[in-house]
Amino acid sequence: MVFESLAEKLQNALGKLKGKGKLSEKDVKNAMREVKLALLEADVNYKVVKDFVKKVKERAVGHEVMDSLTPGQQVIKIVNDELCNLMGKTQSKIEFADSPPTIIMMCGLQGAGKTTTTGKLASLLKKKGKKPLLVACDIYRPAAIKQLEVVGGKVDVPVFSMGDKQNPVNIAKAAVEHGKKNGNDVIIIDTAGRLHIDEELMEELQDIKDEVKPNEILLVLDAMTGQDAVKVAESFENKLGINGVILTKLDGDARGGSALSIRAVTDKPIKFVGMGEKLDELEPFHPDRMASRILG
Ligand code: GDP
Repeated sequence: MVFESLAEKLQNALGKLKGKGKLSEKDVKNAMREVKLALLEADVNYKVVKDFVKKVKERAVGHEVMDSLTPGQQVIKIVNDELCNLMGKTQSKIEFADSPPTIIMMCGLQGAGKTTTTGKLASLLKKKGKKPLLVACDIYRPAAIKQLEVVGGKVDVPVFSMGDKQNPVNIAKAAVEHGKKNGNDVIIIDTAGRLHIDEELMEELQDIKDEVKPNEILLVLDAMTGQDAVKVAESFENKLGINGVILTKLDGDARGGSALSIRAVTDKPIKFVGMGEKLDELEPFHPDRMASRILG
């Protein structure tokens, strides 16, 4: 389970404060040292950890007093608040266009789970009463178009493709026209993934962006790659600009470092998390629920 070891360590560190009637600065300092180590072991970005601990310390020794809580409980509340802040406080939803269709561009590196997640998102939106259209713009990976068609078939959402001989910008443009004619109110474009970020890929994504002016550019990241995922997010944010992240494979990520770092490093929210391979295993990301999962 995600955050399993972090949860245990944080609860252990903070548990020591719980029963105390009075907290010395030393008590807080010792607890914060353990919190810091636990976050680093969970693969949270170093700078994020440093800032986090500093903020908690300032608030904890800064006499933020609530009569209803013991000093130990207050520190726990502050850690909970700051964990929540770290992940963006409140849930970030998809921003739908005022006049449909809403255009969502999915991007990410190969293997991150982009195609699967594209299908999952279409399925989720369909359940909410939308009429999505999937668009196959990955013309480079031989099986990509077929894979999207299979996924679309499983969730019963149509897939627009023009094979692999057309330029992805033209495909995206034609798909939007097609979607408008057919009453599709959400158009989800599956773009090409590469093994690494390269200029050519970024240029292509930029060209698609310029052509279709998406309402949302969502970056799909593999949680299990930890700080590498954070670096990929930084890079996409700087080169292309993204609206949010979908973090996949959180079901297999015991540490949770990327979930705790992405928002703080890129200032962009995690909008959904992938919790399994099945096409209904995509969940909205709730920072507050995640924080309480960590602190128990
Ligand atoms: P793409 O290359 O980015 O399009 O990646 P795919 O959609 O082909 O996914 C790569 C692999 O990750 C597949 O085996 C998926 O089943 C798997 N996958 C995707 N999302 C999740 C998830 O949330 N949890 C788990 N456990 N596996 C996932």
